[in-house]
Amino acid sequence: MNTGPGSYFGSSTFFKTSVITLTFSSIYFYKSDKPLAFLKQPVVKDDSIAVVKTPPVITARKKKTIYLTFDDGPNKGTQKVMDILNAEKIPATLFIVGQHVYGSREQRSIYDSLLNNNLIEIANHSYTHAFENKFAKFYSFENDAVNDFTRCADSLHLSDNIVRLPGRNIWRTKNLSITDIKNSTATADSLQKKGYTAMGWDLEWHFTNNQNLVQSDTLLLSQIDSAFAHNRTRTPNQLVLLAHDRTFWSPADSSALHRLVQVLKQRDEYNFETINKYPGIAN
Ligand SMILES: [Zn+2]
Repeated sequence: MNTGPGSYFGSSTFFKTSVITLTFSSIYFYKSDKPLAFLKQPVVKDDSIAVVKTPPVITARKKKTIYLTFDDGPNKGTQKVMDILNAEKIPATLFIVGQHVYGSREQRSIYDSLLNNNLIEIANHSYTHAFENKFAKFYSFENDAVNDFTRCADSLHLSDNIVRLPGRNIWRTKNLSITDIKNSTATADSLQKKGYTAMGWDLEWHFTNNQNLVQSDTLLLSQIDSAFAHNRTRTPNQLVLLAHDRTFWSPADSSALHRLVQVLKQRDEYNFETINKYPGIAN
Protein backbone atom coordinates (compact mmCIF):
# COMPACT_ATOMS: atom_id res chain seq x y z
CA MET A 1 0.00 0.00 0.00
CA ASN A 2 1.58 3.31 -1.05
CA THR A 3 1.41 5.82 1.75
CA GLY A 4 4.11 8.21 0.55
CA PRO A 5 3.45 11.92 0.99
CA GLY A 6 3.53 12.62 -2.78
CA SER A 7 1.02 9.98 -3.52
CA TYR A 8 -1.14 11.02 -0.59
CA PHE A 9 -1.04 14.68 -1.63
CA GLY A 10 -1.79 13.73 -5.25
CA SER A 11 -4.89 11.66 -4.50
CA SER A 12 -6.04 14.14 -1.90
CA THR A 13 -5.85 17.06 -4.37
CA PHE A 14 -7.77 15.07 -6.96
CA PHE A 15 -10.40 14.19 -4.39
CA LYS A 16 -10.74 17.77 -3.15
CA THR A 17 -10.93 19.17 -6.70
CA SER A 18 -13.66 16.67 -7.56
CA VAL A 19 -15.64 17.50 -4.45
CA ILE A 20 -15.34 21.25 -5.07
CA THR A 21 -16.34 20.85 -8.73
CA LEU A 22 -19.34 18.71 -7.85
CA THR A 23 -20.38 21.10 -5.10
CA PHE A 24 -20.24 24.16 -7.35
CA SER A 25 -22.05 22.31 -10.12
CA SER A 26 -24.76 21.32 -7.69
CA ILE A 27 -25.12 24.85 -6.39
CA TYR A 28 -25.22 26.23 -9.92
CA PHE A 29 -27.93 23.85 -11.05
CA TYR A 30 -29.81 24.28 -7.82
CA LYS A 31 -29.73 28.07 -7.93
CA SER A 32 -30.68 28.47 -11.56
CA ASP A 33 -33.53 26.63 -13.14
CA LYS A 34 -32.58 27.69 -16.64
CA PRO A 35 -29.99 24.96 -17.29
CA LEU A 36 -32.54 22.39 -16.03
CA ALA A 37 -35.53 23.83 -17.79
CA PHE A 38 -34.27 22.92 -21.26
CA LEU A 39 -34.16 19.30 -20.21
CA LYS A 40 -37.93 19.38 -19.73
CA GLN A 41 -38.71 20.98 -23.07
CA PRO A 42 -39.32 18.54 -25.91
CA VAL A 43 -36.94 19.41 -28.75
CA VAL A 44 -38.24 18.45 -32.16
CA LYS A 45 -36.04 18.39 -35.21
CA ASP A 46 -37.77 20.05 -38.10
CA ASP A 47 -35.73 20.30 -41.33
CA SER A 48 -32.57 20.34 -39.26
CA ILE A 49 -33.78 23.35 -37.26
CA ALA A 50 -34.32 22.68 -33.60
CA VAL A 51 -37.82 23.82 -32.66
CA VAL A 52 -38.60 24.18 -28.98
CA LYS A 53 -42.30 23.51 -28.55
CA THR A 54 -44.06 25.54 -25.88
CA PRO A 55 -46.11 23.24 -23.65
CA PRO A 56 -49.86 24.02 -23.83
CA VAL A 57 -51.29 26.02 -20.96
CA ILE A 58 -53.55 23.69 -19.04
CA THR A 59 -56.40 25.44 -17.25
CA ALA A 60 -58.39 23.49 -14.70
CA ARG A 61 -61.84 22.64 -16.07
CA LYS A 62 -64.49 23.25 -13.46
CA LYS A 63 -66.90 20.44 -13.96
CA LYS A 64 -69.82 21.43 -11.74
CA THR A 65 -72.21 24.11 -12.92
CA ILE A 66 -74.57 26.22 -10.83
CA TYR A 67 -77.50 27.96 -12.48
CA LEU A 68 -78.71 30.82 -10.28
CA THR A 69 -82.36 31.57 -11.04
CA PHE A 70 -84.50 34.34 -9.54
CA ASP A 71 -88.29 34.31 -9.89
CA ASP A 72 -91.18 36.77 -9.91
CA GLY A 73 -89.40 40.03 -10.78
CA PRO A 74 -89.22 42.78 -11.52
CA ASN A 75 -89.99 43.90 -7.99
CA LYS A 76 -88.36 45.76 -5.14
CA GLY A 77 -85.61 43.16 -4.69
CA THR A 78 -84.55 42.92 -8.34
CA GLN A 79 -82.14 45.86 -8.30
CA LYS A 80 -80.28 44.35 -5.32
CA VAL A 81 -79.92 41.04 -7.15
CA MET A 82 -78.61 42.81 -10.23
CA ASP A 83 -76.12 44.86 -8.17
CA ILE A 84 -74.66 41.68 -6.64
CA LEU A 85 -74.43 39.90 -10.00
CA ASN A 86 -72.70 42.96 -11.45
CA ALA A 87 -70.28 43.25 -8.54
CA GLU A 88 -69.28 39.60 -8.77
CA LYS A 89 -69.60 39.28 -12.58
CA ILE A 90 -71.79 36.21 -12.22
CA PRO A 91 -74.47 35.26 -14.77
CA ALA A 92 -78.02 34.34 -13.74
CA THR A 93 -81.45 33.75 -15.20
CA LEU A 94 -84.41 35.86 -14.10
CA PHE A 95 -87.87 34.38 -14.61
CA ILE A 96 -90.00 37.46 -15.18
CA VAL A 97 -93.72 37.87 -14.57
CA GLY A 98 -95.11 39.88 -17.51
CA GLN A 99 -97.53 42.04 -15.57
CA HIS A 100 -94.84 42.96 -13.02
CA VAL A 101 -92.95 44.78 -15.78
CA TYR A 102 -95.94 47.09 -16.16
CA GLY A 103 -96.66 47.32 -12.43
CA SER A 104 -94.90 50.66 -11.94
CA ARG A 105 -92.56 53.04 -13.72
CA GLU A 106 -89.75 51.87 -11.45
CA GLN A 107 -90.34 48.19 -12.31
CA ARG A 108 -90.40 49.06 -16.00
CA SER A 109 -87.11 50.88 -15.62
CA ILE A 110 -85.53 47.95 -13.73
CA TYR A 111 -86.70 45.62 -16.49
CA ASP A 112 -85.02 47.86 -19.08
CA SER A 113 -81.75 47.65 -17.19
CA LEU A 114 -82.06 43.85 -17.03
CA LEU A 115 -82.46 43.82 -20.80
CA ASN A 116 -79.21 45.75 -21.20
CA ASN A 117 -77.24 43.54 -18.84
CA ASN A 118 -75.12 40.87 -20.54
CA LEU A 119 -74.91 38.77 -17.37
CA ILE A 120 -78.66 38.31 -17.22
CA GLU A 121 -80.86 35.96 -19.18
CA ILE A 122 -84.54 36.84 -19.13
CA ALA A 123 -87.01 33.96 -19.15
CA ASN A 124 -90.78 33.54 -19.00
CA HIS A 125 -92.65 33.00 -15.73
CA SER A 126 -96.12 33.66 -17.30
CA TYR A 127 -97.97 36.97 -17.57
CA THR A 128 -100.19 36.79 -14.48
CA HIS A 129 -98.28 34.29 -12.29
CA ALA A 130 -101.10 31.74 -12.45
CA PHE A 131 -103.87 34.33 -12.20
CA GLU A 132 -102.04 35.75 -9.18
CA ASN A 133 -101.29 32.49 -7.40
CA LYS A 134 -104.57 30.65 -8.12
CA PHE A 135 -102.56 27.61 -9.06
CA ALA A 136 -105.24 24.88 -9.02
CA LYS A 137 -107.58 26.93 -11.21
CA PHE A 138 -104.78 28.05 -13.54
CA TYR A 139 -103.62 24.51 -14.32
CA SER A 140 -107.14 23.17 -14.79
CA PHE A 141 -107.59 25.43 -17.84
CA GLU A 142 -104.76 24.23 -20.03
CA ASN A 143 -105.39 26.58 -22.97
CA ASP A 144 -105.71 29.66 -20.78
CA ALA A 145 -102.55 28.68 -18.95
CA VAL A 146 -100.59 28.25 -22.18
CA ASN A 147 -101.95 31.58 -23.46
CA ASP A 148 -100.68 33.25 -20.30
CA PHE A 149 -97.12 32.24 -21.24
CA THR A 150 -97.62 33.29 -24.85
CA ARG A 151 -98.95 36.66 -23.67
CA CYS A 152 -95.81 37.15 -21.55
CA ALA A 153 -93.54 36.20 -24.46
CA ASP A 154 -95.38 38.50 -26.89
CA SER A 155 -95.66 41.49 -24.61
CA LEU A 156 -91.99 41.38 -23.62
CA HIS A 157 -90.76 40.27 -27.08
CA LEU A 158 -88.83 37.43 -25.45
CA SER A 159 -86.29 35.84 -27.72
CA ASP A 160 -85.83 32.65 -25.76
CA ASN A 161 -88.46 29.99 -25.14
CA ILE A 162 -87.56 28.98 -21.60
CA VAL A 163 -90.42 29.01 -19.11
CA ARG A 164 -90.89 28.22 -15.45
CA LEU A 165 -94.38 27.23 -14.37
CA PRO A 166 -95.62 29.29 -11.41
CA GLY A 167 -95.89 27.27 -8.22
CA ARG A 168 -94.70 24.08 -9.89
CA ASN A 169 -91.37 22.25 -10.10
CA ILE A 170 -91.86 20.96 -13.64
CA TRP A 171 -89.19 20.01 -16.17
CA ARG A 172 -89.61 19.56 -19.91
CA THR A 173 -86.25 19.44 -21.69
CA LYS A 174 -84.83 17.07 -24.32
CA ASN A 175 -83.68 14.78 -21.51
CA LEU A 176 -86.06 15.41 -18.61
CA SER A 177 -89.81 15.11 -18.17
CA ILE A 178 -90.72 15.62 -14.51
CA THR A 179 -94.05 16.80 -13.09
CA ASP A 180 -94.49 17.45 -9.39
CA ILE A 181 -98.28 17.94 -9.28
CA LYS A 182 -100.26 15.89 -11.76
CA ASN A 183 -103.01 18.40 -12.64
CA SER A 184 -100.31 20.52 -14.33
CA THR A 185 -99.26 17.78 -16.77
CA ALA A 186 -101.49 18.88 -19.65
CA THR A 187 -100.23 22.49 -19.48
CA ALA A 188 -96.61 21.38 -19.32
CA ASP A 189 -96.99 18.97 -22.25
CA SER A 190 -98.82 21.56 -24.30
CA LEU A 191 -96.09 24.15 -23.66
CA GLN A 192 -93.47 21.66 -24.77
CA LYS A 193 -95.41 20.91 -27.97
CA LYS A 194 -95.39 24.62 -28.70
CA GLY A 195 -91.59 24.60 -28.48
CA TYR A 196 -91.12 25.80 -24.90
CA THR A 197 -88.61 24.30 -22.50
CA ALA A 198 -89.81 24.15 -18.90
CA MET A 199 -87.21 24.50 -16.16
CA GLY A 200 -87.74 23.43 -12.59
CA TRP A 201 -85.09 23.55 -9.86
CA ASP A 202 -82.91 21.24 -7.79
CA LEU A 203 -82.69 23.33 -4.65
CA GLU A 204 -84.69 26.26 -3.31
CA TRP A 205 -83.63 29.11 -1.11
CA HIS A 206 -86.87 29.21 0.89
CA PHE A 207 -88.44 32.31 2.37
CA THR A 208 -90.93 33.03 5.16
CA ASN A 209 -94.30 34.78 4.88
CA ASN A 210 -92.43 37.95 5.84
CA GLN A 211 -90.19 37.48 2.78
CA ASN A 212 -87.11 36.63 4.82
CA LEU A 213 -84.73 33.84 3.88
CA VAL A 214 -85.17 30.59 5.76
CA GLN A 215 -81.69 29.09 5.30
CA SER A 216 -78.59 31.06 6.23
CA ASP A 217 -76.04 31.41 3.44
CA THR A 218 -73.77 28.89 5.19
CA LEU A 219 -76.58 26.34 5.43
CA LEU A 220 -77.46 26.85 1.76
CA LEU A 221 -73.80 26.42 0.84
CA SER A 222 -73.68 23.07 2.62
CA GLN A 223 -76.92 22.05 0.88
CA ILE A 224 -75.38 22.91 -2.50
CA ASP A 225 -72.21 20.95 -1.71
CA SER A 226 -74.26 18.03 -0.48
CA ALA A 227 -76.59 17.97 -3.53
CA PHE A 228 -73.54 17.68 -5.81
CA ALA A 229 -71.74 15.19 -3.56
CA HIS A 230 -74.73 12.85 -3.29
CA ASN A 231 -75.84 13.30 -6.89
CA ARG A 232 -79.20 14.75 -5.91
CA THR A 233 -79.47 17.00 -8.96
CA ARG A 234 -81.68 16.21 -11.97
CA THR A 235 -78.60 16.13 -14.21
CA PRO A 236 -75.25 15.05 -12.71
CA ASN A 237 -72.94 17.99 -11.92
CA GLN A 238 -75.62 20.56 -12.87
CA LEU A 239 -77.53 22.35 -10.12
CA VAL A 240 -80.41 24.77 -10.64
CA LEU A 241 -80.93 27.01 -7.62
CA LEU A 242 -84.27 28.76 -7.17
CA ALA A 243 -84.43 32.05 -5.30
CA HIS A 244 -86.87 34.96 -5.37
CA ASP A 245 -85.85 38.55 -6.07
CA ARG A 246 -88.14 40.05 -3.44
CA THR A 247 -86.37 38.37 -0.53
CA PHE A 248 -83.17 40.28 -1.31
CA TRP A 249 -84.75 43.65 -0.71
CA SER A 250 -83.67 43.49 2.93
CA PRO A 251 -80.03 44.39 3.59
CA ALA A 252 -79.54 41.27 5.74
CA ASP A 253 -80.74 38.92 2.99
CA SER A 254 -78.96 40.71 0.15
CA SER A 255 -75.74 40.45 2.21
CA ALA A 256 -76.39 36.72 2.57
CA LEU A 257 -76.74 36.37 -1.21
CA HIS A 258 -73.56 38.37 -1.75
CA ARG A 259 -71.59 36.21 0.70
CA LEU A 260 -72.92 33.01 -0.86
CA VAL A 261 -71.90 34.09 -4.36
CA GLN A 262 -68.45 35.15 -3.17
CA VAL A 263 -67.82 31.84 -1.43
CA LEU A 264 -69.07 29.81 -4.40
CA LYS A 265 -66.83 31.82 -6.72
CA GLN A 266 -63.79 31.00 -4.60
CA ARG A 267 -64.42 27.29 -4.97
CA ASP A 268 -62.34 25.77 -7.73
CA GLU A 269 -65.05 23.34 -8.74
CA TYR A 270 -68.00 25.59 -9.64
CA ASN A 271 -68.97 27.40 -12.85
CA PHE A 272 -71.94 29.69 -13.21
CA GLU A 273 -74.15 29.66 -16.28
CA THR A 274 -77.52 30.86 -17.49
CA ILE A 275 -80.29 28.33 -18.06
CA ASN A 276 -79.93 28.41 -21.85
CA LYS A 277 -76.60 26.55 -21.31
CA TYR A 278 -78.25 23.69 -19.38
CA PRO A 279 -77.87 20.29 -21.11
CA GLY A 280 -80.82 19.39 -23.31
CA ILE A 281 -82.08 22.93 -23.88
CA ALA A 282 -83.09 23.44 -27.48
CA ASN A 283 -83.07 27.15 -28.07
ZN1 LIG B 1 -93.14 32.38 -9.11
